[in-house]
Amino acid sequence: MNKYDVLKQYFGYTAFREGQDELTDCILSGRDALGIMPTGAGKSLCFQVPALMLNGITIVISPLISLMKDQVGALIQAGIPAAYINSSLTPAQSRLALEYACQGKYKIIYVAPERLLTEDFQSFASSASISMLSVDEAHCVSQWGQDFRPSYLKIVEFIDELPSRPIVSAFTATATAAVREDIIRMLKLHKPLVMTTGFDRKNLYFEVQKPKEKFAAVDAFLNKNPNQSGVIYCATRKNVEDVCDKLNTKGYNATRYHAGLKDLERKENQDAFIYDKAQIMVATNAFGMGIDKSNVSFVIHYNMPKNIESYYQEAGRAGRDGEPAQCILLYSGQDVITAKFLINNGGNDELDDETAEKIRRKDLERLKAMTFYCNTTDCLREYILNYFGEKAKSNCGNCSNCNFNFEQIDVTVDAQKILSCVKRMDEKFGTNLVIDVLRGAKTERTERFSDLTTYGIMADTSKPQLHAIINYLISNEYLLNTSDEYQVLKLTEKSKFVLFGQTHLHMKVPKEQEKTAKTVTVYHNENPVLFERLKTLRNSIARVQSVPSYIIFSDSALHDMCAKIPKTNEEFLEVSGVGQVKLERYGEKFLSEINSFLSESDNNNQSI
Ligand code: ADP
Ligand code: MG
Repeated sequence: MNKYDVLKQYFGYTAFREGQDELTDCILSGRDALGIMPTGAGKSLCFQVPALMLNGITIVISPLISLMKDQVGALIQAGIPAAYINSSLTPAQSRLALEYACQGKYKIIYVAPERLLTEDFQSFASSASISMLSVDEAHCVSQWGQDFRPSYLKIVEFIDELPSRPIVSAFTATATAAVREDIIRMLKLHKPLVMTTGFDRKNLYFEVQKPKEKFAAVDAFLNKNPNQSGVIYCATRKNVEDVCDKLNTKGYNATRYHAGLKDLERKENQDAFIYDKAQIMVATNAFGMGIDKSNVSFVIHYNMPKNIESYYQEAGRAGRDGEPAQCILLYSGQDVITAKFLINNGGNDELDDETAEKIRRKDLERLKAMTFYCNTTDCLREYILNYFGEKAKSNCGNCSNCNFNFEQIDVTVDAQKILSCVKRMDEKFGTNLVIDVLRGAKTERTERFSDLTTYGIMADTSKPQLHAIINYLISNEYLLNTSDEYQVLKLTEKSKFVLFGQTHLHMKVPKEQEKTAKTVTVYHNENPVLFERLKTLRNSIARVQSVPSYIIFSDSALHDMCAKIPKTNEEFLEVSGVGQVKLERYGEKFLSEINSFLSESDNNNQSI
C-alpha cells in the first residue's frame, strides 16, 4: 500500500494537508523530522501514516493520559492495532499490554515519558523491532516552551540505550526559534527535515472584548449562539466555579474542570463534555491538552491567558473539524495583574534558582506580548501570525478589529500632553496617577502635582479614552510600562520624535459604540433534517460503544454525507472521513438511514 492508500483506507481522507505529505515522505525515507504545525492542523497523521507503512513498531511519546486515550481510541476505530501504556493501567494491565506488544500485536504504542526507563518497558524495547519514535507535543522538552516537562528529558536517554536507533520524529505547535532549536538539540535529532507550515487557521474568528461585566458578555454570546458546544477558560479555580454556577442557574448546560476537583469528578465532567452530554465546559488551562473533540464551536477566554502560545493553543481547540468557529477573549486590566501574580508566584520546584529566574523573565516578556494583543487595533490574526514569525496580510476580514468600523484619529497633540506629563512627573508613577493628573483630579495623591503645567490639561478627555491612548503609546513603544512589581510609565527613545513634532500619530478607534462584527457564517448544510438524523444515529452508536461521538464520525464527515447522499458502499467510501474499516462497521447503518430518509421525503412530496 502506498501512502495515499493508507490515508484513504484507514483514515478515510483523499488528500494530505499542508506539510503532511512532506513529513510522511521524509520519515519513510529514514530521515528524522520535526513538524511545526498549529493545533488542529493534523500532526498525528504525519506519524500515524508512516507508522503503518514501516516494518516495525512505532512508539509515540505523549504527555497526557487523556491524549493517549483519545488517539488510541480513534486508531482502534479505524482498524489500527494500537495501545497505550501509562499510569491509568493497573500493573497487571500494563504487563499484559507489554506482553502483547512483544508478540507484535500492536503497530503503534503510546507511552508516557515517565514509563520509558522502567525495567518492564526497557526489556520490551531491547527485544522489539522499533522503527520509529515519535515525540508528540515536543515543546515539552524545552524550558523555553510554555509547558516544560522534565520527564521529557528521559526520551533521549531511552533512545541512546536502544540496540539500534529508530527514526525520530517530533511534533509541536510552538513555533519560536528557541524552542525549535531546543527540540533538535535535546532530542538529538539527526539532520531533521524541519517543516513549519502556515499557522493560520482560517476558519477561526478572533475577537477581543473589553466588557464592563464579563458574565453579561458571556450570557449575550451564548444567547446569540444557542446549542453550540464550547469551552470557557478562566484564570482561576474560583472563577471557574463562579461562572459555571451562574451558567447553570441561568439554565445553560455547563460543567467544570480544574485541578482542585477530585480525579473522578474531573474525569466525569470531561467525559460529559466530550460525549456531548454537557454543552459548555468551564475550565482552567488544566483542561484541554489532549482533548481532540472536533466539534467545538467556540472558545471564550474569560481572562487573558499568560502568553500568545497558550492563547493560540487553547483558542485553537475550536473548529478542529474545519467548520467556522469563534475565539473570543474578554479582557480587563485586572487580568494583567492576576497573570503577573501567577508568574511571580508559580515557581517550579524542579528548577534551580537561576533557571527559574530566567524563565520568570521570559514569562513576563510573553505576558507583555499577550497584553498588546488585547489592546491593538490592528488585525488580530496578523498580530498572532507575526508573533509566530509569519508574515500575514493586514486585513484578514475575520477578526473583530478588521470587522469593526474603525476610523483613524490624529492623537499627536494628546500624545505630546501625555508624554510631557510623564516627564514632568519624573517618570516615577503609574498610568492611573498620570491620568488623574492630566484630568486635574483633586485627590491626596495628585495634590503635589497641582503646580505642573500639565495638571488638568486633559480635563475634557474621559478616563477610558486616556487609557486607550496610553495603551496605544505603549504598544507602539512611545511609552514604556515597566514590568516590575510597581508599574511606572517612562519615556522611550522614540518619545522625543513625538514631543518635538517630528512624528504624527494616528490611532484607530471604533466609529460606533455598537459593534458591527460580522456574524460568523454557518456551515452551509444541504440538509439539516438528514444531518440531525445522522447525528442521532452516530450518537447512539457512540453511546453503545462508550466512545466520544466524533471518534465514530466527525461533524464534517456527516456534513459530507448530507452533501453526497451516498447510496452504495462505493459512494459511501467517497465521503471524507470514511475508511475501509468504518465502511465495514457503519456503512450499512448509515446507508439505510439515508435511504429511509430519502423514501420518506419522497412520500411526503407525493402527498403534497
Ligand atoms: P493536531 O495534532 O495538529 O492538533 P490532529 O492530528 O488532532 O491535529 O488533527 C486534527 C483534525 O484534523 C482531526 O480531526 C483529523 O482527523 C483531521 N485531519 C487530519 N489530517 C486530515 C486530512 N488530510 N484531511 C482531512 N482531515 C484531516
Ligand atoms: Mg496533536
